[in-house]
Amino acid sequence: PAGDRATDRALRDLAAHLTGALIGPHDPGYDDARRVWNGMVDVRPRALARAGSVADVDLVLATARSTGLPLAVRGGGHNIAGQSTVADGLVLDLGGLTGVVVDPAARLVTAQPGATLAHVDRATAPHGLAVPLGVVGGTGVAGLTLGGGIGWLTRTHGLTIDNLVSAEVVTAAGEHLHVDEAEHPELFWGLRGGGGNFGVVTSFQCRAHPLASPVLAGGLVYRRPRWEQALAAFEAWARELPDEMNTIVSFVVLPPEYGLGPEVLMTVGLAWASPQHGAGLELVDRLRAAAPPDLETVGPVPWTVWQTAKDPVFPTGSRGYWKNVAFSRLDEEVVSALVSVAARITWVGSGINLHYLRGAFGRVPEDATAWPSRAARFWLNIFGFWRDPADDARLTAYARTVHAALEPFAEHGQYVNFLGAETGGDPVAAARHAYGRDKHERLVELKNRFDPGNMFRGNHNIVPTAA
Ligand code: FAD
Repeated sequence: PAGDRATDRALRDLAAHLTGALIGPHDPGYDDARRVWNGMVDVRPRALARAGSVADVDLVLATARSTGLPLAVRGGGHNIAGQSTVADGLVLDLGGLTGVVVDPAARLVTAQPGATLAHVDRATAPHGLAVPLGVVGGTGVAGLTLGGGIGWLTRTHGLTIDNLVSAEVVTAAGEHLHVDEAEHPELFWGLRGGGGNFGVVTSFQCRAHPLASPVLAGGLVYRRPRWEQALAAFEAWARELPDEMNTIVSFVVLPPEYGLGPEVLMTVGLAWASPQHGAGLELVDRLRAAAPPDLETVGPVPWTVWQTAKDPVFPTGSRGYWKNVAFSRLDEEVVSALVSVAARITWVGSGINLHYLRGAFGRVPEDATAWPSRAARFWLNIFGFWRDPADDARLTAYARTVHAALEPFAEHGQYVNFLGAETGGDPVAAARHAYGRDKHERLVELKNRFDPGNMFRGNHNIVPTAA
């Protein structure tokens, strides 16, 4: 590493050449600039470089190389583990590069690395198109895509990575690569699930799909006494679902502004990705008949409204700790484990999402991407989103309790984007646990080729062999 004086000089030089801005601890915007979504992450970087152009990426990487300052790369800043900032290091903040270009004839969308899901949805909606993304509009496309990208179109069209066509990548050595199935195919494989381990992605090109708005969406809501019956009905109903029906079962106490009282509610959330609303309603009728809900909100909703409807629940600055578990059974034993932990939620600030998969997601060959597993029927995400630091220990412990209750039924695989910060522990073992032994080995080989010095370590890290 360079000495302090040399580092200061290098940072001054960087500030002079950036088309964006360099923000240090003495600048007025520093406290705002260093904030990430997770309010538990209170980290003071040496400097934050707000990229104003792709050329700025080269300058920041060169400065990180010459000074040895630890580097963090930030897209939308929503990473749960707070990995898009670094204490005493240099943050490459791509959040200002939010451009999205739609080619409606080719059904291709090109997003800059600071674009959020809302930027993409707003750009594609006027063309009657949508890219499969996540469920909260403020999330960054960059981190979401590099980890996988689960949302309301996953059964219909797969994960975000299943719709990634190409990426522009700047490597640790400063090379600019166009990456797709034909050029650098192994890197293309690793980018799709392997996180930001291999370089800075400066552009994402994704396939978009026709989606008629309004979509048929909403939820069937169940109070506690009906959960077992509703989950049994849901399990049978889900087996017969066409790909157009996307569904997430959630358990959550909604904030007071929703006016539903302080009880934990189970909702079978639905998004029917087809213009044939009649067929979608018939499917909903079937579930309703098997398990009559206490409340219901299913109806036509403009796609961009649906995609941002949950944003107020998760404002930036929320404190968060998440865990996830993949499994395939939803029999009495699993339902009983799930219900017993879900029923303990008596506060706004913890929730459980049970994503139902299969469909287009499940038809992608296991080895096509670095995503850990295509076999599981369900991916369960335990998410925390509280505001009061006094709740940190209790709500982190609750997420661990839910995870422990479901882990006996787990199949292999951890979704890195649904993981909070873990202190201690062996990062190699954690990554092997997340991806499975074979995929992890393949990711390590890729890391050895593209980032042997582990410049990109602010992520669920694939540790290179030499490190
Ligand atoms: P950042 O914190 O900016 O970055 C995340 C990671 O990616 C970091 O390791 C960072 O270094 C790296 N990175 C960022 N940009 C680049 C780049 N251009 N090149 C290389 N590396 C980069 N996930 C889902 O799949 N579906 C959901 O529905 C969903 N909902 C969410 C809702 C909320 C409220 C939150 C907080 C998260 C949600 N997530 C969801 C998880 C989300 O996918 C991850 O938090 C993801 O990391 C966010 O990406 P980001 O760009 O906002 O994050």
